[in-house]
Amino acid sequence: MNFLEERICRDGVVKEGNVLKVDQFLNHQMDTALFKQMGEEFQKRFAGKNINKILTIEASGIGIACVVAMYFDVPVVFAKKSKSINIEGDMYIAEVESFTHKCKNQVIVSKKYLGPDDHVLIIDDFLANGCALQGLISIVNQAGGTVEGIGIAIEKGFQSGGRVIRNLGYQLESLAIVEGMDASTGAITFREQNTCN
Ligand code: 5GP
Repeated sequence: MNFLEERICRDGVVKEGNVLKVDQFLNHQMDTALFKQMGEEFQKRFAGKNINKILTIEASGIGIACVVAMYFDVPVVFAKKSKSINIEGDMYIAEVESFTHKCKNQVIVSKKYLGPDDHVLIIDDFLANGCALQGLISIVNQAGGTVEGIGIAIEKGFQSGGRVIRNLGYQLESLAIVEGMDASTGAITFREQNTCN
């Protein structure tokens, strides 16, 4: 098991409805030492890529993205969730359905902060059905930028997002891929990966 899988086993809680709670170290309280390990690992996995910006989505992607960005020495832009339909003109907009909150949000990024010269690493905490990622990819495409890669802390491999995004040809790196979890026993199983040590 790698460092993140070990931490998920120790402090993650499996909830009904295929939800993994990781509030103890990722989604509420944030373990910055763990985030640094993630930053180092993403730096290795995306070595040689020409990355000049990190894009994430509020709220729980922001903390991880900021620490990862320090390893790439680049700024972070986060997509803001907005319920308002009257959004001013200079924004890229995508529709994102929330897996955990079961609602639709528009996410927006100012045109000031993303453009055709940007080579973007997308970072997020979780990958489930891939809706959040599809929204972020759409925003980079609208800007005329390039998605250089996608880094995820925890992918739920039994949901469709990972397969869909990999089939689109993106380099998607997930530090822990959960293959199955059982709310009644709390058991969590991971997909074997050789790239993390
Ligand atoms: P997707 O759009 O891929 O279906 O879901 C990704 C988003 O939903 C992530 O940004 C994350 O905030 C949230 N999410 C999805 N599954 C889980 C889960 O099992 N636990 C937690 N804490 N968040 C999740």
